[in-house]
Amino acid sequence: MEIQVPGMKQHLDAEGVLILHFDSPGERVNLLNAELLRGLDALLDAARADRSVHAVMFGSAKPGMFVAGMNVAEIAGVTDAATAAEGARLGQSVFQKIEDLGKPSLCAINGTCLGGGTELALACTFRIAADDAGPIGLPEVKLGIIPGFGGSQRLPRVVGLTAALDMILTGRNLDARRAKKIGLVDRLVPAAYLSREGLALLKEARGEGPEAVARRLRRPRVWHQRALEGIGPLRRLVIDQARRKTAEKADPTHYPAPFRALDAIDAAFTQPLSTGLDTEARIVGELVPTTTSKNLCWLFGAQTELKSSAVRAAAPRPIRRIGVLGAGIMGGGIAQLAADKGIPVRLRDLRYDAVLTALKTAHSVWDYKVKRRRMTEAERGAKMAFIAPTLDTSGFGQVDLIVEAVVEQLAVKRKVLAEIEPRIGARTVFATNTSSLPIGEIASGAVHPERVVGMHFFNPVHRMPLVEVIAGPRTSPEAVATVHSLAVRMGKVPVIVQDGPGFLVNRILTLYLNEAMQLLLEGVRIDAIDRAMLAFGMPMGPFALLDQVGLDTARHVGGVMVEAFGERIGGSGSMLDTMIGDGEPGSEERPGFLPLSRRKAQTSRQRIYQLIGDRRPRGRFHRRRSRSAWFWRC
Ligand code: NAD
Repeated sequence: MEIQVPGMKQHLDAEGVLILHFDSPGERVNLLNAELLRGLDALLDAARADRSVHAVMFGSAKPGMFVAGMNVAEIAGVTDAATAAEGARLGQSVFQKIEDLGKPSLCAINGTCLGGGTELALACTFRIAADDAGPIGLPEVKLGIIPGFGGSQRLPRVVGLTAALDMILTGRNLDARRAKKIGLVDRLVPAAYLSREGLALLKEARGEGPEAVARRLRRPRVWHQRALEGIGPLRRLVIDQARRKTAEKADPTHYPAPFRALDAIDAAFTQPLSTGLDTEARIVGELVPTTTSKNLCWLFGAQTELKSSAVRAAAPRPIRRIGVLGAGIMGGGIAQLAADKGIPVRLRDLRYDAVLTALKTAHSVWDYKVKRRRMTEAERGAKMAFIAPTLDTSGFGQVDLIVEAVVEQLAVKRKVLAEIEPRIGARTVFATNTSSLPIGEIASGAVHPERVVGMHFFNPVHRMPLVEVIAGPRTSPEAVATVHSLAVRMGKVPVIVQDGPGFLVNRILTLYLNEAMQLLLEGVRIDAIDRAMLAFGMPMGPFALLDQVGLDTARHVGGVMVEAFGERIGGSGSMLDTMIGDGEPGSEERPGFLPLSRRKAQTSRQRIYQLIGDRRPRGRFHRRRSRSAWFWRC
């Protein structure tokens, strides 16, 4: 065929199968863009007209990478609804041509298949995947939009209402096995046989007819699924429930995308495909120009850049296994995450009960997935086996990197480093999870200070995306690069920072939390402040966050910041001192900002107001002295 498409290789085999391989030149990933889509559009017209083409097979020339979606920079550059909707219609019409080809089409997914990649696959007659392929999904809501190339219409038709809701509303990706289980993929094959099996399937389709092969490959929907989708009131019940659940997690003013995705999914069951596609394009047009989408696209770009190897100054050491010192909240979390990613972990604590608690907590994190059928019990068992607990230092000689997560005291951290250094390999990296201590000081007594580096995870480790990688004054570029690449492997966004007080996050956070406490001291109620920040778009109010961080930790970090910056940073240390007092956390003498139960809410709040010396009556408008804003005192 004469038509050349940039970013795509083509070949017509002897059996009349037009093999189209995505291959963006000079790039690590295959991305769709308007130019490629227009080229593909013309190519599909030619393939339809060409009698020597009997079938079309899509694949990729890049290992482990099918198509990672539309180029986000292109989406970010669109600022008006009409252009955005037009862009969606272009993709829709090209993929519709695949569906209307009049010849069988097959998508051979060999790895990452996201957004437009998945939408292209959904338009094909068959989808097969390598058994190690993935992530597969429609993550558009994470960019503040909805799938716009037919995904919101075809996915519900292919996998059913509940599975489609789960994928589209959360933007969650699947591995190939799960994609097969929900019916998104028809057949799994070993990666090496992907092409061969694809061609074989197309041959079967030519002999038996595509419908007969599809019937053989696909399980019919079970009766209750059909009932949910086919009976209007039942379907609306499911969609309303999904809307309520979404509203618990996101505010439609700040995050309209999942709510609009629900409207599009509803259309998939109530409108013919062509009308549904039109609804989808209109919603895309509405969402693309919003500030939310622009900010999320920027965030995506920034995160991608931070993960890229270009930010590293040296090559990382390969990590085969790691050691974790301290099995508390953080050490346990880090061990769980490493095991989840298939990295063997030696986990040490001085206390038997700490190790047991860490194992129990790790089990419960996976249990959450098992209960939601995102993981089998056998998989959980296999992951648990990656954590090898110990009370001594045995096994630490074999690890490539150690994450230290013992208590936040300089003397203890130095002692732990001095104790482990003679027992570890010649190039083992020592990463400390300190939240506030200077890396330079932790490393000052070390034999190899160049191997000491900060790796600051946030709590809870399995959920918080950021990891600060802190280069001390003597840390080697190799140690920084190793921690950076480990963080990426653990699914985190690493940000490389200098060894300054508060690093990056606490430097910003301290000011924010101080301001919240200052407002409280000036008479604004806890609930009002938290609510105001939630309405502003924060995922959690400052006092809810303070409770989660822990008052002692907040006091300690605040102290470090005040010591470094003095009046510049201000501080609410005395208030926290008063609140911390001598009481145990959660006790009546020492209430948290957010009471554990509703019943205790009033007394807990009153106690805090009393502790900070606030005796003004509640329930009045109150004008702050130092600022002009009015706040409702609840
Ligand atoms: P934690 O008190 O929950 O756990 C510390 C654990 O270390 C305890 O189980 C203790 O028995 C153990 N330990 C003490 N000395 C040890 C030694 N010599 N060898 C092995 N284990 C030893 O503390 P955490 O909250 O997990 O914090 C650990 C580190 O992570 C601190 O530096 C803290 O500042 C930092 N951090 C904490 C958070 C948080 O939210 N908790 C967030 C980020 C960073």
